[in-house]
Amino acid sequence: MTTWLLLPLGMALGWALSRKSDGVGARHDAETGAAATPLAGVPDNPELQLTLGSLFRRRGEVERALQLHQTLLQRSDIDVDLREETQLELAEDFQQAGLMDQAEAVWRELAAGNGRNAAAAVQELLTVAEQGREWNDAVRLAKQLESLQGASARARVSHYHCELGEEALTAGDLDVARRHARQAERDDPKAVRPRWLQARVAEAAGDLAEAVDRYRAALEIDGRYIDDLLPGLLKALERHGNVSLVPQVLGDIAVNNHAPALLVAQADQQARAGGDPMPMLAAGLVSHPSRVVLKAFLATMAPRPEVIQAGLGETATALRTALEAMEKSTPGYVCEQCGFTPRNRFWQCPACRHWGTIHKVPDRFGV
Ligand SMILES: [Zn+2]
Repeated sequence: MTTWLLLPLGMALGWALSRKSDGVGARHDAETGAAATPLAGVPDNPELQLTLGSLFRRRGEVERALQLHQTLLQRSDIDVDLREETQLELAEDFQQAGLMDQAEAVWRELAAGNGRNAAAAVQELLTVAEQGREWNDAVRLAKQLESLQGASARARVSHYHCELGEEALTAGDLDVARRHARQAERDDPKAVRPRWLQARVAEAAGDLAEAVDRYRAALEIDGRYIDDLLPGLLKALERHGNVSLVPQVLGDIAVNNHAPALLVAQADQQARAGGDPMPMLAAGLVSHPSRVVLKAFLATMAPRPEVIQAGLGETATALRTALEAMEKSTPGYVCEQCGFTPRNRFWQCPACRHWGTIHKVPDRFGV
């Protein structure tokens, strides 16, 4: 039977069968005491039975779908492809019924078979591993998927090693954290995250020069991460104790990176050194028009004696408050894959489950 015919036929049959079980047929069963079988009234066509079972599940009749798919698998006259497709459907039935152990057992059997549907089963197991944060399993499954599909999974595996490294860092196991960070870098040499993790591990170990180097290496790879990396970098620089190093490093980075947050950090350094940050911030409003520069400008302006004398101190403060409220209602991050806009950074998009696709929304007026 041609495939295109199966769906409408299955839908018509599903409708007819459900009417039967809801109506006269069900009453008859109740009267006679005979249990309704899942195959009662279903034509003896395996492909149609597969389609019908899936239709039952989509309609919420999971138990019926399970029975139909399980009965189908007991037949000896179905070919390997249909058997595997039925197994995939059965696993979905189990999943929808909340029977995850059974679903995983079916996927594992399919994955071990190396048949046409092995990759689909491994993908399902990988999703389960990610959701359960079982990162060692995820590494193994991603490599298995790579060999089945021939497409590189190294960027994804790099994230899994970063996850393992972050867990080790939180637990204070710096050697393990370092090892995973290095492996993550080998898996994806152009990724920011392994460098960032290395910087934090170095910082935790008290190796501040190394931490500064790693932060800078991360920024050289992708300057868009400046807002995430700058606070850690400044902290490492300050802990390092060499005061003159801070403006020097910020100046070096500013040669190639024109992020507003960097200009604000430079103005702040100028104020700490006893200078007046206003000219730099005023120029920054033109060269880097953004919320962060305007906010710093207003914060610096409000307490100045000449501003207070002119009666503008409160106005500056009110403007800053309005700006902060505006900031809260603006999305902080966006997924370049699906457009999801979370307030915080996620390495894996919670909406589309892609890795490394969420970036900070640029803070620049007129963009
Ligand atoms: Zn997404």
